[in-house]
Amino acid sequence: MPKIVEQWLQKVLDTMGHRTTVTRSQIMSATKLNSASVSHTLQFLLERGIILKVGELQSKAGRHQDVMTLNPEAGYFVAVVLESTRMRFALTNFVGDIRYRWEADVQLGQTLQIREIVAGIEMVLRNLSEVQRLRLAAIGISCPGILSQSGGVTALNLGWKNISLTPELEEIFSLPVYLEHPTHSAIRAERWVGLAQGVRDFIDVMVGHVVGVGVFSNGRFVGGRDQMAGEVGHIRIDPDGSDVCRCGKTGCLEAIVSSPNIFRQYRAKTGLEGSYSGGLRVTDVFERARRHETAAVEVPDRVTRYLRLALSYLVNFLNPELIILGGDLITAEDLLLPSLREQIAANTLPDFVKNLNIAVSRMGLDIGLKGAASLAFRTALNHPEVLKNMCRLVVELHSHSPAVEGSSSVAS
Ligand SMILES: [Zn+2]
Repeated sequence: MPKIVEQWLQKVLDTMGHRTTVTRSQIMSATKLNSASVSHTLQFLLERGIILKVGELQSKAGRHQDVMTLNPEAGYFVAVVLESTRMRFALTNFVGDIRYRWEADVQLGQTLQIREIVAGIEMVLRNLSEVQRLRLAAIGISCPGILSQSGGVTALNLGWKNISLTPELEEIFSLPVYLEHPTHSAIRAERWVGLAQGVRDFIDVMVGHVVGVGVFSNGRFVGGRDQMAGEVGHIRIDPDGSDVCRCGKTGCLEAIVSSPNIFRQYRAKTGLEGSYSGGLRVTDVFERARRHETAAVEVPDRVTRYLRLALSYLVNFLNPELIILGGDLITAEDLLLPSLREQIAANTLPDFVKNLNIAVSRMGLDIGLKGAASLAFRTALNHPEVLKNMCRLVVELHSHSPAVEGSSSVAS
């Protein structure tokens, strides 16, 4: 494959990966490639079954254009999400539809076991036919902690130390393995199929067991030297507070607004016995707040106050057009979000809030899996050998391909 064609393929597949259906002229506009290059590339991909013609666009001027889409069964990816207490696995097709899932518990504080990750991946691969297995392109993993260039993972707070994740999995599965921080996975997922499609400046705020903030600015991930930028959870938002954070300091945002800490504050106010993981959950605290139980109301009030303050700092600093909120937080959307815009406006320059959208993620638990699948797809495009593998002839089209749109005209 000549080098120039590789670049055409990367650009065309990347564009098509972001859209459900697309025309030749839309690809030209998105990729900045000339007409001949786009035609050549589309022909190449159509002949191999990597893309499909699914309709025709007819304009008033009488021009016809083919409408094309990625063939969902042209390739498969394994998406893995490693969390503090759970591992999630999925097999996704070429367009990110989840085909099979598998989940397993992780013992909080125990080291990560590679053999358990291998077992999870094998569980989602077991339903693939031999032909489909040949079209398996890459494994994408969303993983917390410090991720080294060589694919190692260290998350000391979780008890994970120098785990050689990528090299071991690549050897076992003979597939490329790509690794990324969960905040980046969330951004990928929202850009791919969520609320941030086509958005160049946004912040993704996940509040759950921890606080994770992903920043996408001027069309790029903001990663910092160690890809750790966005540790907003450790801003000391209440320096005089006594809330002890897992980082060892006090008054960090995470020590106040994360789910275990919401529960901790409620327990302290009520004298309840029990641990975070047993019995009462953070959703129950929110439920009690809705019933106006005094202790339960006081906790969300404090959580909201500091969360709004932290968001206003981010807005001042980054001037985003969109803030997406996710995690356990969204179970209390009705308690936490009213007047959020006004509260942020009170602490920022007025112009920053005028056109600011604040939205709740609708992706639920799939956000990490979708992000990991997107990581696998996008990164594979940049590796010539993997790209070549992805562009081999599709020898078998599968009966469960999604219904094509037929040849009916699409309104222009
Ligand atoms: Zn901290």
